Amino acid sequence: MQVNNTEINGFLIDQFNQHNLDVGKTQGICPLCSSDRQPKNQKAKCASYDWERGLGTCHHCDSSFQLHTYQRKGSSEKTYIRPDAFKDLRRYLFWVYNV
Ligand SMILES: [Zn+2]
Repeated sequence: MQVNNTEINGFLIDQFNQHNLDVGKTQGICPLCSSDRQPKNQKAKCASYDWERGLGTCHHCDSSFQLHTYQRKGSSEKTYIRPDAFKDLRRYLFWVYNV
C-alpha cells in the first residue's frame, strides 16, 4: 500500500506518523490506551488505521486520533493536537477539513 507522507487533502503533513505506528497497516495498537492496558493486551490490535485520511479509531477506548500532525494551510504556524485534546477531535476536523 502506498502511503502519502507529505500531504493529505491538500494539507501538508508536519510530523508523519506521530505515534510511530505500523505504516500501511490497517490495524494495530492504539496510541491512547494500549500502553495503559495489561501487559498481555498491550500488543492487542485494538485500533484501525486509515492512512488515506490520516485518522485512526480505537475499538477499545472508543477514541479517534490523528496519525500525523499538519501544518496549517497558508501559514507557517504549526498545528499540534495534544493527547488530552482528542475529545475535541470533531471540532478540530471541522476546523481543518471543513467537514
Ligand atoms: Zn484505545
